[in-house]
Amino acid sequence: METQLQEAIDWPDTEIESSRQNLWDTVRGMLDDVALRLELDPGIHAILRQPERELTVSVPVVMDDGHIRVFTGYRIQHSSARGPCKGGIRYHPAVDTDEVRALAALMTLKCAVVDIPYGGAKGGVQCDPTQMSQDEVCRMTRRFAAMIMPIIGSRRDIPAPDVNTNAQTMAWFADTVSMLEGKTTMDIVTGKPIPLGGSLGRKEATGRGVAIVTHELLKRTGRDLDQTTVAVQGYGNVGSSAATILDHMGCKVTAVSDVSGGVYSGNGLDIANINRHVANHPKGLLEGYEAPGVEKISNDELLTSEADLLVPAALEHQIRADNAPDIRAKMIVEGANGPTTPAADEILRDRDIIVVPDILANAGGVVVSYFEWVQDLQFFFWEEEEVNRNLRRIMVNSFKNVWEYSRQHEVPLRMGAYMLAVEKVAGAIHYRGMFP
Ligand code: NAD
Repeated sequence: METQLQEAIDWPDTEIESSRQNLWDTVRGMLDDVALRLELDPGIHAILRQPERELTVSVPVVMDDGHIRVFTGYRIQHSSARGPCKGGIRYHPAVDTDEVRALAALMTLKCAVVDIPYGGAKGGVQCDPTQMSQDEVCRMTRRFAAMIMPIIGSRRDIPAPDVNTNAQTMAWFADTVSMLEGKTTMDIVTGKPIPLGGSLGRKEATGRGVAIVTHELLKRTGRDLDQTTVAVQGYGNVGSSAATILDHMGCKVTAVSDVSGGVYSGNGLDIANINRHVANHPKGLLEGYEAPGVEKISNDELLTSEADLLVPAALEHQIRADNAPDIRAKMIVEGANGPTTPAADEILRDRDIIVVPDILANAGGVVVSYFEWVQDLQFFFWEEEEVNRNLRRIMVNSFKNVWEYSRQHEVPLRMGAYMLAVEKVAGAIHYRGMFP
């Protein structure tokens, strides 16, 4: 076992090697490292190294021109030790088993860090929804929902939106399950539209959580919001909400980007104007945005642009050994899941750049998903002010716990967050004991 552990934590030290690593290798490497530090029971370590359950489905869809295409879909449950599994559904060409496994494991740890009673899961369909019509995406969603139905449920596993899925996707999902079960089953997913039992504040929750955590970090490092410049990579659900809320809180957002490229202004961007542009763009992109004093930049340039704080909020492994030495921000708050490779993490650490890890920084989404689930189970809905107040309380406490734990154990915030999370999951496994 020890040799196996040793093999797994020996990160390759060249970026050529680490670019071949996928996110699952990254997450398992971290888990191995944490297990060694915590002197974790090898049996519990072995449990955490594998997902509990994996389902792969072939999803046939009649496309608009009448031909059938078969997409591959996944639902992977990493752990149900602390409660029903919870995690988003992603539609993207890069979705594969290992990516979904990694994202599921991150969900287990995230729910533990913020202490909500869930395990972790993730799902996805390998597809490019930007090249599909709305009707095709709807048919694919309904068929996928029907095919993973045997393993999901409001006490088993509750999906939510992720990259390229949204409240509409969740509405189709919940409707499909309700039709097949012959009863209203809205509590099968979170992130739904408000009229279908969605929670006020859910849409912005991940970005709001990023902003709350950013504020806590600035307080600890003696900085003021209005003296902080921010660059945000990714302008979807997480990135746009984070940029908008940080802008409202007084930060100067100097750069934003999405899959179509980015824009920069040293004087601060007009975020309200950018949001109007994105809302009117047929594909919701920054493409074509122009304003006085605003330069176009590439995604790579965004990551290394002049800013105090960087919020990666697009996809995984964006900050790598090849660009980490050029990052000018002194703080990184990970809105995306797994945006930093292990090699980059080491470089950032050597450069004294503080990284607030994904499992803490972007947990606001799952926290408000939890509130939505609680509201659905009770058929009793909260005001937005109550949602935001409770979200703030949980994010501030979780940040404090991770910050203090990391200082006490003299480890970076990522390691501290993982250690705290693994301790909680391991405790739950220990108390439950092995069935049978
Ligand atoms: P989204 O689909 O709403 O937005 C993704 C954004 O990233 C889009 O603006 C897209 O154009 C951009 N993008 C894609 N490829 C890019 C690239 N190569 N360079 C720059 N930008 C690129 O997705 P989202 O829900 O905002 O999720 C973003 C990240 O946050 C993902 O890692 C997701 O797992 C994570 N996350 C999401 C939530 C949530 O509640 N939605 C919660 C926690 C974590």
